Amino acid sequence: MKQQLSDRITSLPASATLAMAAKARELKTAGKDIISLSLGEPDFNTPDYIKEAAIQAINDNYNSYSPVDGYADLKEAICAKFKRDNNIDYKPSQIVVSTGAKQSLANITQVLLNPGDEVLLPSPYWVSYSAQSILGGATYTEIPSTIETDFKITPAQLEEAITPKTKLIFFNSPNNPSGTVYTEEDYRGLAEVLEKYPDIYIVSDEIYEHINYGTPNFSIAAIPSMYDRTITVNGLAKGFAMTGWRIGFIGAPEWIAKACTKMQGQITSGTNCIAQRAAITALSEPVSRIQYMVDEFQKRRDMMLELLGEIEGVKLNVPKGAFYIFPDVSAFFGKTIKGKEIQNATDFSMLLLEEANVATVTGEAFGAPTCIRISYAASEAQLREAVKRIKEVLV
Ligand code: PMP
Ligand code: GLU
Repeated sequence: MKQQLSDRITSLPASATLAMAAKARELKTAGKDIISLSLGEPDFNTPDYIKEAAIQAINDNYNSYSPVDGYADLKEAICAKFKRDNNIDYKPSQIVVSTGAKQSLANITQVLLNPGDEVLLPSPYWVSYSAQSILGGATYTEIPSTIETDFKITPAQLEEAITPKTKLIFFNSPNNPSGTVYTEEDYRGLAEVLEKYPDIYIVSDEIYEHINYGTPNFSIAAIPSMYDRTITVNGLAKGFAMTGWRIGFIGAPEWIAKACTKMQGQITSGTNCIAQRAAITALSEPVSRIQYMVDEFQKRRDMMLELLGEIEGVKLNVPKGAFYIFPDVSAFFGKTIKGKEIQNATDFSMLLLEEANVATVTGEAFGAPTCIRISYAASEAQLREAVKRIKEVLV
């Protein structure tokens, strides 16, 4: 029989982050000593107080389907969290809990986008925004930024990129991959432009909110003129070291939340009931209980900046949050290293994989073709060894 897949899946790019992680795993299994700095995944265990809540939920016989949009008491806890951390008032009817923030984002693109719509992606941006926009039938336009502007876009750039077809814009702060944090002032400037275009929706992906090294977080939905048009996305994967538990959530205008619930009801239903019970504890306990992980990430960031700063040609900014370094490596383009011609960031990332046994992700996947992403969610010893190997290849 002819293997005939849909156009939808054939035109969909695979997730570059997951693909690189799979490649690193494959090489490791084949016996290669690979240091994988490709995946954005905390290397901590989930904190004990959260694990205990999950064990309790199992013993309390939480084993049935939950409401599609999440348990009522979890949605209450999420509303309290949004008020406490983000100064946003949401009612439980505006909350939808999903199988990771990835599903939250997929729901949004599926319920808001139509063929012909355009999505704006300030670049660099997380890989799945572009892929999910395409799955929604839309096209996307990148609004470029560079290391010189700390990877931030300006209000003027935003205004210039808007067309009559623009439906949605994605913001992500702290940013994956650049670590950039947009301040209240930055968002107010961008909001002034958006106020002139009332038909554009805003997705604010705040999943790295707690992994922030001192810049006050600000949520664009806290600006009253943006509130009715913004979907605030968050989740437990990063800040709470709970990637595999698969809890994401949104706060949104009620009509959008309802549509997301309808979409999810046909695709996955409510997410894992044990993880939801644990999420209540994670979100209700003081944020200070997870600060030890943030402090450790910050130490590693500082160490990585120092070590990588010793390599000529590697241009760095200071990431203010998340757990990635996103160096500009264009100084190496056009050179031949270890017999390999380096024409772009993908060649550079492959050079590091093949010659240094260090897995990173090419910036091309994030709309930033001069950079590579290095995750520092790994032990200090692994990070030191990785940079040593990179140095040996490049210097
Ligand atoms: N948004 C960003 C910016 C991310 O880096 C990730 C990484 N997984 C996600 C969303 C999805 O998170 P989750 O694991 O909750 O699906
Ligand atoms: N978000 C993480 C990353 O960017 C996990 C991988 C993924 O979900 O794409 O590496």
